[in-house]
Amino acid sequence: MYRPIKACFLQCLPSNLRTISSATWQKSRPFGRICSPGTTNASVTFPGGNWLQANPMLTEEHMQKWPTLQALAKASLEEVNELWAGLGYYSRGKRLQEAAQKVVSELAGQMPATAEELQRLLPGVGKYTAGAIASISYGQVTGVVDGNVIRVLCRVRCIGADSSSPAVTDRLWDLANSLVDPARPGDFNQAMMELGATVCTPRAPLCMECPVKQHCRARCRVEKELEFASKRLLGKAAFSCSQAPDIEECAATGSCSLCLPASEPWDSSLGVANFPRRAAKKQPRAERTATCVLERRGPRGEPEYLIVQRPSSGLLAGLWEFPSLALELGLKEKQQREVLLAHVQAWAGEAVARGRLRHVGEVSHVFSHIHQTYVVYSLLLGGDHKTASGRRDKMLERPAFRWVTQAEFQKAAVSTAMKKVWKAFERQICEGRGSGQGCKRKRAANPSRAGQWKVEADGSLPPRQFSLDAFLKAPAGE
Ligand code: SF4
Repeated sequence: MYRPIKACFLQCLPSNLRTISSATWQKSRPFGRICSPGTTNASVTFPGGNWLQANPMLTEEHMQKWPTLQALAKASLEEVNELWAGLGYYSRGKRLQEAAQKVVSELAGQMPATAEELQRLLPGVGKYTAGAIASISYGQVTGVVDGNVIRVLCRVRCIGADSSSPAVTDRLWDLANSLVDPARPGDFNQAMMELGATVCTPRAPLCMECPVKQHCRARCRVEKELEFASKRLLGKAAFSCSQAPDIEECAATGSCSLCLPASEPWDSSLGVANFPRRAAKKQPRAERTATCVLERRGPRGEPEYLIVQRPSSGLLAGLWEFPSLALELGLKEKQQREVLLAHVQAWAGEAVARGRLRHVGEVSHVFSHIHQTYVVYSLLLGGDHKTASGRRDKMLERPAFRWVTQAEFQKAAVSTAMKKVWKAFERQICEGRGSGQGCKRKRAANPSRAGQWKVEADGSLPPRQFSLDAFLKAPAGE
């Protein structure tokens, strides 16, 4: 039924398709690495190229460290987090490891081979990922719907309702499953995604170069609009764009759950970009967190910094951070200092005057649903590593913690946000010492001098600055 459009979509496959399109597919989809069929190898081998080189989430380092599912299953969450540090989407690394453990311990080392089983049995595998793995690696005839496919299908079919609504989502999956080529399901799905990523782009689609343009209702509509405008201007007869029905012919216009809403009609200035439409995005909520870079001298006089481990569930689960405390909104600076000082006191191993807590600045980081502002302070402890190791009696209820050198901090499982905090702290150190650009190298070359700040007489520190013919013939009822 959809044969012409299938052939058109498959034209989107470049000669080196497996490498390129898998790169698109793999973008932030780490489960791709565990979909090798019939094997227990953790990687997917695409003929014609090494996908690892094009994979922004997984690196050669990951594959060398865990070349098999068994190796990944044996890894600790700490090891996974360390190698994942800085990549974002930390819960994906955790779930990837959980999935590997499940395949090894409960599924006799065999990957589920259908989209249904993949989604049902493996943690972190959703409908899209399951469809992608099943079609690309196992040849199951099943469609995929990701952001690129949503954009292509909404334009090709002029679906203008909120693309995240259940009605549109269901319709898109129906379309994807109807369209997928049974002879080459994996190639077809990659071609669809490739089309959306390289041709049918969000803001500047290359319609003239598009292999499915003769089947695209959005493009047809744009041409009709232009023709209508031209006709009005020149008084000529209207042209006929194609035999395909257009969206205005929808019998349910005004109440259709797929058409452009009456409240947000077609906008000529947008052209094909009228599709897809999305409900207004929810603004991330604002949160403030006080963070303290606690520094002491190590056994050889080198600077060491305290990092503590976050809870094993929730945001940034299991990652390490400088001692941090969520702040109530509206807290004044003096109050922030007091609550933070009380929070870090137990780790300090000594009484710390409020004035020694130095304000470094503010660092912003946007998580998917939270706009986080870190109010950064630093505290240089006066004693050595023996006195500044924390009072054990008060540490019983505390999370895991450790003192690390600068180099160890950079290799630790810390988030991008904490690396930003570190940079702010390092900048302050450089500015405070007037060392300019060479500060970092100087600290590394002469660590024993780092942290040597002048302490005032009162114990405080000085302030620093611190298919497509048939496809177009809509199924009956649509
Ligand atoms: Fe997208 Fe244009 Fe191709 Fe339609 S013709 S699918 S809008 S690139």
